[in-house]
Amino acid sequence: MMQTESLLFRTKKLLTTYDLHAKKGLGQNFLIDGGILKKIAAAAELTSTDTVIEVGPGLGVLTETLVEQAGKVIAIELDDNLAGILKNRFADVKKLTVINDDVLKVNPADILGIDTNYKVVANLPYYITSAVIRHFLEAPVKPAVLILMVQKEVAKQITAQPGEMSLLSVSVQLYGKPMVVGKVSAHCFYPAPNVDSAILKISVYPHSKIETADITGFFDIARAGFSANRKQLVNSLANGLKVSKTEIIPVLDQAGIDPQRRAETLTIDEWGNLFRAFKEKR
Ligand code: SAM
Repeated sequence: MMQTESLLFRTKKLLTTYDLHAKKGLGQNFLIDGGILKKIAAAAELTSTDTVIEVGPGLGVLTETLVEQAGKVIAIELDDNLAGILKNRFADVKKLTVINDDVLKVNPADILGIDTNYKVVANLPYYITSAVIRHFLEAPVKPAVLILMVQKEVAKQITAQPGEMSLLSVSVQLYGKPMVVGKVSAHCFYPAPNVDSAILKISVYPHSKIETADITGFFDIARAGFSANRKQLVNSLANGLKVSKTEIIPVLDQAGIDPQRRAETLTIDEWGNLFRAFKEKR
């Protein structure tokens, strides 16, 4: 594994060779720390039978590690220049497929082939962190695990416990168990972002905690619950769903939830009870 200085040198050299600059708008902060690459790969527990989808391979520094350890790697890169460079650099690596597209437009089932088991590994472009996470967790064919570099604050929000929950933590913990694998300083990237980061591991459950065909309906209720910061649930639900409090109180009662509770305090199971109580009422 390369040391920080040589990875920094190599990254700058590749950018100069291809006459490129890191594009801030595409979240291009390239990893230049070999130890962090090792940590990401170790968290993914890769074996030669694994298929990995990598989001935003950039110049390919993480991709190199992934192709060393996994059986198959599919790397999705939006930037035309970077995708072209990767296809060129890895032309001999048969186990790697580079797709030049927006990850949010790619359905995993369409690129996986017959074996639909896969893991997602990514140093994410931060501007679409939650969209990417939801894209994979809500896909008909979900990954077994996601190992993601995210902003430290976002990792904290996603792993929050009842008392500090948010729409983001609910939308992740519905589908899997998130944990922070390690903290990552801004100096591990070139150029260095303004924030520190963390490696987040989301181990996806075989079945989501709330089994329903109406996931949009579930999120309508959760979104309403979180719509008014730190207000009592009875008020935020009434405001968010545009119905009277007298309609909300019996639903909360049926779900066994005190109307004075705040959305931040509910467990995932309680959100499930609330959703089912609303469904029964309608
Ligand atoms: N994996 C590389 C590394 O660790 O050095 C680059 C990571 S950089 C933080 C994020 C990468 O995601 C960039 O290469 C960027 O062009 C790419 N990207 C940005 N938006 C994307 C999107 N919507 N779909 C796919 N890739 C995207």
